Amino acid sequence: MLADNLREVKEKINEACRRSGRSAEDVTLCAVSKTKPEEDILTLYNAGQRDFGENYIQELRQKHDDLPKDIRWHMIGHLQRNKVKYIAEYISMIHSVDSIELARTIEKEAAKHGRIIPILIEVNIAGEDTKFGVSADEAEALIREISLLPHVQVRGLMTSAPFVEDPEEDRIHFRNLAHLSVDIANKNIDNVTVDMLSMGMSNDYEVALEEGSTIVRVGTSIFGKRDYPAK
Ligand SMILES: *Cc1c(COP(=O)(O)O)cnc(C)c1O
Repeated sequence: MLADNLREVKEKINEACRRSGRSAEDVTLCAVSKTKPEEDILTLYNAGQRDFGENYIQELRQKHDDLPKDIRWHMIGHLQRNKVKYIAEYISMIHSVDSIELARTIEKEAAKHGRIIPILIEVNIAGEDTKFGVSADEAEALIREISLLPHVQVRGLMTSAPFVEDPEEDRIHFRNLAHLSVDIANKNIDNVTVDMLSMGMSNDYEVALEEGSTIVRVGTSIFGKRDYPAK
């Protein structure tokens, strides 16, 4: 079942890439496993999946302890500064950085482990009241500040588009984030590479890919509905 779902999502990724003249090799599928049991993750691991996304630090720590060490863990949820120390040693990428204070904490914890942690800047591209993330206008200034931190490397931008019935309604937001990414990349800021765009979830990842997404974060379409809601 899970392996079939994974295969279907990968096929849709391939088709979306073909439609938009892109190579599917440039796309990372991050399987969002929050609230899902370790055995499900192992099933997908055995089907070849290596990138998994989690939202809650306690859950992430437990899964990291228990599961194979070559899994690449992505922190995709809102991150409290006092929790960074628990994941700094192994986290593969933090998608949800939206303040210089959080970036400074990541810097401190990454330095302790002699690591450079890749991060994405979370942008509230549709300007929703309820969302985390900086506004499009604030992104460049934040990136310039973070670029001075030697153990944090900005790799690009992340967004969660508004929940809509018809994913076409979110196309404009994905397009806007892609434009913002190109604008910032063109500034050639030292120690910053803006080549990753984390956008697209189960209901809208195909549209996001057509607009240039390089990391899609897909939970429900792979694992099925979550039994309990986000804490
Ligand atoms: C839960 C979550 C996802 C996955 O959502 P699905 O609709 O289940 O694919 C992606 N990104 C973030 C930030 C999430 O919190």
